[in-house]
Amino acid sequence: MTLPRIAIVGIAIESSAYAAHKADYRDFPVLTGDALFERYAFLAEGAPLREAAEWLPIFMARAIPGGAVRREVYDDFKQRIVAGLREAGPVDGVYFDIHGAMSVVDVDDAEGDLVTAVREVVGDDALIAAPMDLHGNMSETLALALDLPTCYRLAPHEDAWETKERSAARLVEWLGRGDKPMTAWVRVPILLPGEKTSTRVEPARSLYAQIDDVEKTPGVSDLGLWIGYAWADEPRCHATVMVTGDEIDVITAEVERIAGELWDARDGFEFVGPPGTLDEAVESALAHEGEKPYLISDSGDNPGAGGSGDVTWTLARLLGKPELTRADAPVTYVASVFDHEGVAALASAAVGSEVDVTVGARVDHRVSGPVRLAGVLESFHAGDPAAGRIAVIRVGGIRAVVTEFRKAYHDVADFRAIGLEPTEADIVVTKIGYLEPTLYDVAKGWTLALTPGPVDQDLERLGHSRIVRPMFPYDDFAERPDLSAAVLQNRRYVRGFVGA
Ligand SMILES: [Zn+2]
Repeated sequence: MTLPRIAIVGIAIESSAYAAHKADYRDFPVLTGDALFERYAFLAEGAPLREAAEWLPIFMARAIPGGAVRREVYDDFKQRIVAGLREAGPVDGVYFDIHGAMSVVDVDDAEGDLVTAVREVVGDDALIAAPMDLHGNMSETLALALDLPTCYRLAPHEDAWETKERSAARLVEWLGRGDKPMTAWVRVPILLPGEKTSTRVEPARSLYAQIDDVEKTPGVSDLGLWIGYAWADEPRCHATVMVTGDEIDVITAEVERIAGELWDARDGFEFVGPPGTLDEAVESALAHEGEKPYLISDSGDNPGAGGSGDVTWTLARLLGKPELTRADAPVTYVASVFDHEGVAALASAAVGSEVDVTVGARVDHRVSGPVRLAGVLESFHAGDPAAGRIAVIRVGGIRAVVTEFRKAYHDVADFRAIGLEPTEADIVVTKIGYLEPTLYDVAKGWTLALTPGPVDQDLERLGHSRIVRPMFPYDDFAERPDLSAAVLQNRRYVRGFVGA
């Protein structure tokens, strides 16, 4: 028996088109060849899926979220993928590992562009599977090019690896069947931030929780429910539901049912945590009694959603509050801004000495300029793989974290690595939206501060001009939108039509 040949390629990033940061080579660790296998535990030597196919690990570049990818970087990666596929020769399948919300400078529908280049090499017959983030976007180009699209079912994405494994397993399974799956597809005119659609709370929790049961229905192979990505301004930014399988009436009925439930739930999507202004967040934190710490999400510049990471708006305002900068003020960690030159200037200072440095807003200064930090250098660290060198500066109760390069402080381990113990702080302010698991676990109080920046939660403050209208919640709907499904198979519509 000959095993199916499956190429592994991908570029994964979630990028805000509103961020001044532009993703460069440094943002993208690249894996090729055997090293690429290390990314996937389910493809370890001897694992059943590894044995089920001849996997060809070609190219994978993955960055933490950020701004749009520089055009020359994207073009280079695309070229390396195309060259690798050509060199690999004929393949039966492609494991197309993308996020789905990549923005590239001067390229619309970046994943659509990339998959088109892949299709040109592998031809129409190869099956392409894509395990995406549920915050990815589905364009018509991408929908037509993919045979087996799917996405995460939890936000935060605790099921990311389970999803990637399921996608690989479905690909192997369909290659064994020898026929092509059908995908029933509904575009849902809703565009919401992830902070209103976390599966920790209703209505997203129930919507997603039923997917496992739908998948058990005979004729259904997989179900993807994409919330979409709101910090880009393209026609593909909207919610999408897709059901893959081989029973056209079953997958059509299921996709229309779920799309209808999503639409009917639209008014129920609220911020996952108690929202407020930064001032309200600080007031609540100072008034909080009992166990610590109190968490404040500085959501407008969350690098995990595409923020630049050096927006100073929040740090500047916190430094302006005497109740936080007095000598006896509550201990408040503030993470983080990156500033290569600022950290370089601090490198020669002795720990414990007085320092006076201006940091941040070198990349993204649209909502706030550089900030002066005059205080005591509490600690200095080198060698963080993402952040490079890191300085912690004490100003009264505030411990401000300044990194050399972009870094998201989304895990208690990130703080502990620089000598800051979140459970001993009174207040922890970090650039994040909904709390990732370890911070969620230690938080004894929380405000989702609606701060300005590249991933502003107030989407109308950013403004969209190119999304398809009408769109909830920006427009009024006189009547229920058309939520009837189109069905795709083998690059063609076999029922209905959705359009670009
Ligand atoms: Zn996501």
